[in-house]
Amino acid sequence: MVIMDDYIGRLRSGSLKLYALEKELPPRDAVRVRRAYIEGETGVTLDAVGSFTIGIDRVVRRNIENMIGAVQVPLGVAGPLRVKGEYATGSYYLPLATTEGALVASVNRGCALVTRAGGADVRILRDGMTRAPVFAARDIVHAHETVTWVEEHEEEIREAAESTTSHGRLSDVVPFVAGTSVFVRLEFDTKDAMGMNMVTIASQHVGELIERETGARLVALSGNMCTDKKPAAINLVRGRGKTVVAGVKLDDGLIGDLLKTDAETLASVNERKNLVGSARAASFGFNAHAANVVAAMFIACGQDAAHVVEGSTCITTVERVDGGAYVAVTLPSLPVGTVGGGTGVDTQRDCLELLGVYGGGDPPGTHARALAEIVAAGVLAGELSLLGALAAQHLARAHRQLGRG
Ligand code: NAP
Repeated sequence: MVIMDDYIGRLRSGSLKLYALEKELPPRDAVRVRRAYIEGETGVTLDAVGSFTIGIDRVVRRNIENMIGAVQVPLGVAGPLRVKGEYATGSYYLPLATTEGALVASVNRGCALVTRAGGADVRILRDGMTRAPVFAARDIVHAHETVTWVEEHEEEIREAAESTTSHGRLSDVVPFVAGTSVFVRLEFDTKDAMGMNMVTIASQHVGELIERETGARLVALSGNMCTDKKPAAINLVRGRGKTVVAGVKLDDGLIGDLLKTDAETLASVNERKNLVGSARAASFGFNAHAANVVAAMFIACGQDAAHVVEGSTCITTVERVDGGAYVAVTLPSLPVGTVGGGTGVDTQRDCLELLGVYGGGDPPGTHARALAEIVAAGVLAGELSLLGALAAQHLARAHRQLGRG
């Protein structure tokens, strides 16, 4: 108690910084003292925030600064969901961390539908995490010379990039110019890592090489053409992280049984809402609520939650086919990893283990790809359930109106 008062006194006097507690105390005590200090300063009791199970030693080194506790998000499961991917094959219980009531129930209904239809086919069309450093050229002639140098020296750029990582592989280099600004969009196969740290470190080496060889000044390691955590057409068009597509054929009987609607109505709701409505709104998300499943699975599985921005740019399509409908979701930009970042936090690790994808895959890259396939199949289930609910109401209204007519 005396010690606690001692530290709090020093924090109050400013002779000890709040962030420096771990330099003097073991992590658990540092977190306890910091929380008590904040409670004292604000008059708010933080008993619930102070009660948690995740290992402090690991997270204060890798995941959080100024830690005072943990926020707990309820975790539910939806499933089993049958997935027929190239990396994920089988039945899965999806871990969904959310405070949005009805979300898990809705996804669960979609999982039942997809599974009864034989499962979701899932394929990864492209896999590459990007960083795009920006350089300042003297004038547009110099900008053009810089682009030409980049185009003619891809091997040197590759060597510089891959010297910093044993797992990452440079897969594409695409330059862009705006006036005297030159952007070099570097794309990497990051295997089982989501890869932002990995590619940022590699991009630093590449940036220094280009600056040295061309004289164009490296202004910032991220020039926003990456584009990280901002809605951007470039990610929708070229992809960032995993580009994944999941699809399922639903028979008329199944649509009637489980969704209480029919293929025609389902396709019509999708077209007017997800395609026409999203186009009219100039939305990047041509879907019903992909972000709900992406966010809940990202939080559960230790993914970078801010990447829901990219992950929500999903296109949902419903086509009338003989005897039913073919429903698909295309996610152009799904950044996921099973090593690094938040994947090792105890509760998040449990969720990845539930899906059988924790840690590095054999061969490397297969776990992250499996996770991407499972998330995409979950999004498909979520889309189907909500579209079905909307379509059923539509149908009920139409029936009521017809009945009255
Ligand atoms: P990381 O925590 O830096 O770990 C990735 C490293 O794990 C790789 O560089 C690799 O080392 C190693 N590794 C071991 N086994 C691997 C395997 N099977 N496949 C791939 N790599 C393996 O994670 P990250 O994915 O690069 O970055 C994720 C973190 O970046 C998140 O915490 C996120 O919040 C944060 N983030 C950073 C930035 C930024 O600009 N720095 C931006 C957004 C988000 P080697 O490279 O030595 O092979």
